[in-house]
Amino acid sequence: MASEVLKLTAQIVISHASMSELTPNELVEEIKDVYNLLASLEGGEVMAGAALPGEKARGAEVVKKPSVPLNEIVKEKYVLCLECGKKMRTLKAHLRKAHHLAPAEYYRRYGLEPKKFPLVCKEYSEQRRKLAKEKGLGERGFRRKAKEKA
Ligand SMILES: [Zn+2]
Repeated sequence: MASEVLKLTAQIVISHASMSELTPNELVEEIKDVYNLLASLEGGEVMAGAALPGEKARGAEVVKKPSVPLNEIVKEKYVLCLECGKKMRTLKAHLRKAHHLAPAEYYRRYGLEPKKFPLVCKEYSEQRRKLAKEKGLGERGFRRKAKEKA
């Protein structure tokens, strides 16, 4: 992979150097810059000593690193919003209202797997599963059961 990036770097720098006068120093700097840019775009390692803060920041925006451990996000009684740290029973409406994020965007932003990190707390999804099961037994059976409970 690195060699591909190097080849591309050379091509870009050569074509640029042919259009403008570059001192040897500028040439070296340009090679580093172009190489790092290409490498960071490809997700590879950046050459040491020539960090590009702007590029780094942009790269960081693509997938944010959650500020909490991933096993702390979905709990029995709440789900944690990674955008603002709020704890809710369900996040879907909150994400849309507070952060204008669709669930898919939210997952992409943090590089989360939707299957592993539902937007509802465990208790809530458990309740819904039970409800669906009871409904599956028939509407009458479900009502009778609810009456017995009351
Ligand atoms: Zn939030």
